[in-house]
Amino acid sequence: MVLLNPKKLDRSYSDARTPEIMRKTVEFFEQKGKARLLEDYYDRPWYADFLDFVREERIFASMCTPEGEGAADTRWDTWRNCEFAEILGFYGLQYWYTWQVSVLGLGPIWMSPNKELRKKTAAALEDGGIFAFGLSEKTHGADIYSTDMVLTKNGDGWLANGRKYYIGNGNEAAIVSTFGRMEDGDEYIFFAADPKHPNYHLVKNVVASQNYVSEFELRDYPISQADILHRDREAWNAALNTVNIGKYNLGWASIGISTHAFYEAITHANNRVLYGSPVTDMSHVRRMFVEGYARLVAMKLFALRASDYMRVASPEDRRYLLYNPMVKMKVTTQGEAVINLIWDAIAAKGFEKDTYFSQAAVDIRALPKLEGTVHVNIALISKFMPNFFFNPAEYPEVARQDQDRNDDFLFDQGSARGLGQIQFHDYKPAFESTNVPNALVFAEQVELFRGMLAEAPPGPDQMKDVDFLLAAGEIFALVVYAQLILENRDGYAIGDDLLDQIFEFMVQDLSGHALTLMSQSTSNDVQITACREMMRKPDHDAARYERVWNDEVKVLDGAYVMND
Ligand SMILES: Cc1cc2nc3c(=O)[nH]c(=O)nc-3n(C[C@H](O)[C@H](O)[C@H](O)COP(=O)(O)OP(=O)(O)OC[C@H]3O[C@@H](n4cnc5c(N)ncnc54)[C@H](O)[C@@H]3O)c2cc1C
Repeated sequence: MVLLNPKKLDRSYSDARTPEIMRKTVEFFEQKGKARLLEDYYDRPWYADFLDFVREERIFASMCTPEGEGAADTRWDTWRNCEFAEILGFYGLQYWYTWQVSVLGLGPIWMSPNKELRKKTAAALEDGGIFAFGLSEKTHGADIYSTDMVLTKNGDGWLANGRKYYIGNGNEAAIVSTFGRMEDGDEYIFFAADPKHPNYHLVKNVVASQNYVSEFELRDYPISQADILHRDREAWNAALNTVNIGKYNLGWASIGISTHAFYEAITHANNRVLYGSPVTDMSHVRRMFVEGYARLVAMKLFALRASDYMRVASPEDRRYLLYNPMVKMKVTTQGEAVINLIWDAIAAKGFEKDTYFSQAAVDIRALPKLEGTVHVNIALISKFMPNFFFNPAEYPEVARQDQDRNDDFLFDQGSARGLGQIQFHDYKPAFESTNVPNALVFAEQVELFRGMLAEAPPGPDQMKDVDFLLAAGEIFALVVYAQLILENRDGYAIGDDLLDQIFEFMVQDLSGHALTLMSQSTSNDVQITACREMMRKPDHDAARYERVWNDEVKVLDGAYVMND
């Protein structure tokens, strides 16, 4: 089965330590039980029990120390990070978040030439330490150019002054990787700050949750050469390259949350009898589950395929810079779509405080907004559109990357520039690999979109119109989404019925985006005509639909129930 079932972990790993980490993490949560999990969620204590477990079992030490920086069993391995992130999201976004911001905090450290700090970090991880990434500020949002964390010269070193906002783990982190600038000139800097230092002032937790998302202030905080992680262009690259690694994990949190919520919802709805029949006999309720399931499987197929490209990335192959932001913006918004669908099916049940769903319904909203909003990421991927459609390149075939090896390149990504020059492999062979009716309709829609771009590309006014670019970017994202799902279908034994069901919602979604694009104030006649042609009806096949319901969705009733 493609979906995670924590009680039947079945991913294969070639080492012994990784399955042990996954199994023990599941055991921690199952032993804690659903009642305590939810009690903590609503009472909001700091998750010391989880962090004690992490320390005792050396979980973050094994998972988050690159090979060669720590003990023999350590490596940074995206293949296993996926499942770990999925498991944490499955039990609660708060547990995923304390790991995630540790991942982000570690990024600038593992990318740094500062050996002493790297050594200190490896030791802190062995001691169960967590980490923090101090990038955001209260008044600047996505505009990190305008940082007000300023270092002024002080003897051989500097004094740091400024505030940071929305910094997870800022209360307890062993090191807060902090971004700022030098007082003179426009040089950026990343340095290590210690929350225990007297000049580090914790202002408050800005959210009401088990997470500590801090505001903190550095007042005349002394910085020496030994605290410096990166300077100048390297500091900027470290910020962006760290987010490149981190944003990928957001999709897995969404997948984990949606999967747990799905099990709970189908188990409730399929056993709820109204007017003498299960609720799932009603056509619209059944449709919500079938569509929700198809969307969930698609999320996972895409994110898994993106992992392959992340692991083969190199200075010559930077395709991951398209796929990663898509895991961030597309997979996470699809998570919202899944929760919306199944919430309509279970209605009042989703509010009850002893359901995982009540937590999922809130937390699923966070992921599209963290580490750059959906808008920022669509704007980012739009840069890739011309080369994607009109200037493909040859690359060697990429097989599934499930080897137990360290992902060296992630900490050596180089300059964050030159996105417009990146080329992609031709998307067409993926579409030619199937004959399922809805994939054929979708491929026609794609060619209409491509034709529109060739004949009437966005003009100068439209290039400045972010709404227009977002609408076009959504269609582009759907094409890439479909391509990687097709590339991964054989590896995960996705049958034609389910594939067709997946493409049914994709045809529908593309039609919706075409309507949005057509409706823009600046769309011209050629674009309007093309958009009208892109609006297509999916192929509905009642027999296929019933098979997906019976063989893949209905069987999830009771397939996983968390221990009390
Ligand atoms: C719970 C939580 C935890 C967080 N943890 C951390 C953390 O540990 N470390 C950290 O550094 N940060 C953290 N953040 C900050 C988070 O990454 C930012 O909230 C996020 O990047 C968006 O910034 P903003 O919310 O201030 O939106 P703003 O940047 O103020 O954006 C406002 C609007 O403008 C749009 N916009 C902005 N720029 C562009 C653009 N270039 N193109 C198109 N549209 C644009 C946005 O989409 C949005 O609609 C956290 C935030 C939250 C809520």
